[in-house]
Parts: sequence; structure tokens; C-alpha cells
Amino acid sequence: MDRIREELEKLEEENLHPRAARSGSSKGRKKDETPCRVRTCYQRDRDRILHCKAFRRLKHKTQVFLAPQGDHYRTRLTHTLEVSQIARTISRALRLNEDLTEAIALGHDLGHTPFGHAGEEALDGIVEKGFSHVAQSLRVVEVLEKGGQGLNLSLEVLDGIRKHSKGLGEIVPTGEDRALTVEGQVVRLADIVAYINHDIDDALRAGVLLDEELPADLTEDVGETHAERIGCMVRDIIESTRGGNLERAVMSDGLVQKCRDLRGFLFEKVYYNPQTHREFLKASKILRDLFEHYMEHPGEMGATEGEGRTREERERLACDFIAGMTDRFATMMFEKTFLPQPWKIL
Ligand code: MG
Repeated sequence: MDRIREELEKLEEENLHPRAARSGSSKGRKKDETPCRVRTCYQRDRDRILHCKAFRRLKHKTQVFLAPQGDHYRTRLTHTLEVSQIARTISRALRLNEDLTEAIALGHDLGHTPFGHAGEEALDGIVEKGFSHVAQSLRVVEVLEKGGQGLNLSLEVLDGIRKHSKGLGEIVPTGEDRALTVEGQVVRLADIVAYINHDIDDALRAGVLLDEELPADLTEDVGETHAERIGCMVRDIIESTRGGNLERAVMSDGLVQKCRDLRGFLFEKVYYNPQTHREFLKASKILRDLFEHYMEHPGEMGATEGEGRTREERERLACDFIAGMTDRFATMMFEKTFLPQPWKIL
């Protein structure tokens, strides 16, 4: 029993690509811990993320369509699982460390607010120091989880979470924006492949997009169906990265251009479509009103005496509390706080 982890580390040493991250050579954790007897450090990190509360809340957070009633729409949880699946396929094909890839993928969006990007934009507009889900994901795993102790993850996992986001930035990042490990770089590409494809799929399901509106170079060059398109993009990433001997995870120039175009197409037709955007504005108002309310009543966030005395401290508390909410919890708190409650029969 005692030597299982050592044996797994040896297998990684023998079988993984020279550019892969090896759990035996991890830079370690901020606080030293006795290694697990059975699992490598990256397996352990993956398990810690999977078992944490913020992970379970992802199932009731918006991906694009707010609090969808249709059971087939993506939520932040299914998005996370799709990113993980795509990233693991690429990692295994390239003989990278699949456990590290999975840990980064499962943790990458833990800091997302309720109501998706509408929530993120709303908080960013209110909080003095600004708000980004990337920084919040790190805060969740470093500080907020486990009753304020954090999960004490390996530095490679933290680095991958920190560098996963693309926003409207470069699809294949360079310099400081690029994750230190190839596994972290793979997750960033897998995130883009996942969301471009599933947001198109959900928008078609919602009737916000029609099949005939899809750009011809997507359907003709990438694939007719959702599955074909993901397959084509995954193969491109594997071949392009292998072509560069895994120096870094990349896509071909052609695919980078297509992803850029598709991202622009999604912004125009889906994210800023008047129908979806109208709901975004309502969601922003809910979060702005809640934020103001909690700034005045920090006790309602469970803050103990002495906490939240300065404006900055109260902002931090309100920001953590609201960012952690699911769509339905935020709506419920808004109703409870601002709408008269119907009198119940005793
Ligand atoms: Mg994501």
C-alpha cells in the first residue's frame, strides 16, 4: 500500500512526454503537507476541487442562458465537464499529465458569478478594485474554501487556473499570459473549443440562432455537426502541438482565425442579441441592488462582529458573498430582501 504513489510517479516518469509535468517534480504547495500514500499530488488536487462546495454550486450558475428551465442547456458545471473532457482527450493523445489537466479544468471557473458574464460585468462595474472571475477562482481555492483555509493546491494547478482565461485577448497567448505547463495551455484552448461549440448549440436550441445563419466556413471547413466540429478542432490542436514537439500547446493559424471570427459572431448574434441582453440587464440590476444592500448590512452575509468595518473590507465580503451565489440563490435573496413576503396562514 505504501508504495502506490511512488509507483504512479515512476509510471509518469517512464511514459509521459518529456515536456509533460511530472507530479514527482511539482513545485509543491504553499503549505507543506505529507504526500498521500495512494494518489499523486495532481490527483489529490483534482479530488479536492471535485469535493469542494464551489464546485457543486456550478450546477446552478448560468453559462449563457439565465437560469434555464430547459434541461438540455449548459450550465457552468456542464461547461466545466466539457472543457475537462476535451482537455483530457488532447492531453492523453500528447502523453501529457492527464491528472494535472483535469485538476486545472475542473477548477478554472469556480469563481464565476451568478448570471454568467452579466454578473461578472456588474460586479466589475461596482467594486472599486474591479472584479474578474479568474482572480475570484484563485480566491476560492486559495482562501474561501474549507472555511477560510483554502485547498492548498499545487502551484502548477494554481498557475493553470490563473492563466486559463481568454476574454477577448489572444487565443494562443504569449509571454506572461501563457501557462507554465503545457497542460495549463491545453486547458485554455479546450475552454475556447468547448464554449464556442456549446454556445452555438445552445443558441440553436433556444432559437436565438438559426442553422442557416451559421457561417459557411464553419459548417463547410470545420464540420456539419456539433460533434464533427469539436473533433476537427481537437485534431487540429493535437497535430499542431505535436508539430512543434510540444514546445507549447497551439492551434493552426487557420483555426485561430476561425475561432476569432466565431467568437465575434457569438458576441454579435448571441451574447449581445437584444433578447438575451435584455435579461442580462435585469440580472445586473439584481446583483447591483444586492451589493448595495449588503454594503449597508454586512451582518446579513454572516459577517461576525469586527468584520467589514472599513469600506474596503465590506466590499470584499459582499463581493465574495455575491460571486459565490447561484442564479437561484441570488434571485431568492433579491425577493427576500426587496419584495414584500406573502403572509403565511398560521
Ligand atoms: Mg470556462
